Amino acid sequence: MIALGPLFQEINLQHFDGCLDPPQMVWNSRLRSSAGRFIPGSLRFFRAKPPVIEIASYLREEGEAAALIRDTLAHEMIHYWLWVRRQPYGHTDAFYRKMREMGVSRYNPVPRLPAPKYLYRCPVCLKDFPARRKLGVLACLECCRNQANGKFDHRFKLELIQQLR
Ligand SMILES: [Zn+2]
Ligand SMILES: [Zn+2]
Repeated sequence: MIALGPLFQEINLQHFDGCLDPPQMVWNSRLRSSAGRFIPGSLRFFRAKPPVIEIASYLREEGEAAALIRDTLAHEMIHYWLWVRRQPYGHTDAFYRKMREMGVSRYNPVPRLPAPKYLYRCPVCLKDFPARRKLGVLACLECCRNQANGKFDHRFKLELIQQLR
């Protein structure tokens, strides 16, 4: 099995002057809509969580798995690098500039599911809400039900945490 840690350090040295701290890296067997994703961390005191790069497990079964995994990790590392630098970390001009500079090709897997475009998250129970379109002001139904007598409560307002490719 390909270890993500050493691969991260290799790409880190090659393209980021070794200046990136490794985020949490996980294989995600449920990730089917994309090859990988970057989930920003949080520095909030009570809910500090590390940034995460997820790589879809199914890549390991594709032909040329090593190259696909490398490209996918490199791609997610650009998101992470922008985020570390406190820049918008979506597919911005800066993103594509870095991508060209690195010579990373984009692996576009055939989506196994209709791909959600936005990822929202309840800040309290951390449940994910993938969405095909941008949502208005919505709160986590379950948290409102359990902790606010079913009424809308700003504490449970869904946060847009990532715009997916
Ligand atoms: Zn919730
Ligand atoms: Zn991306």
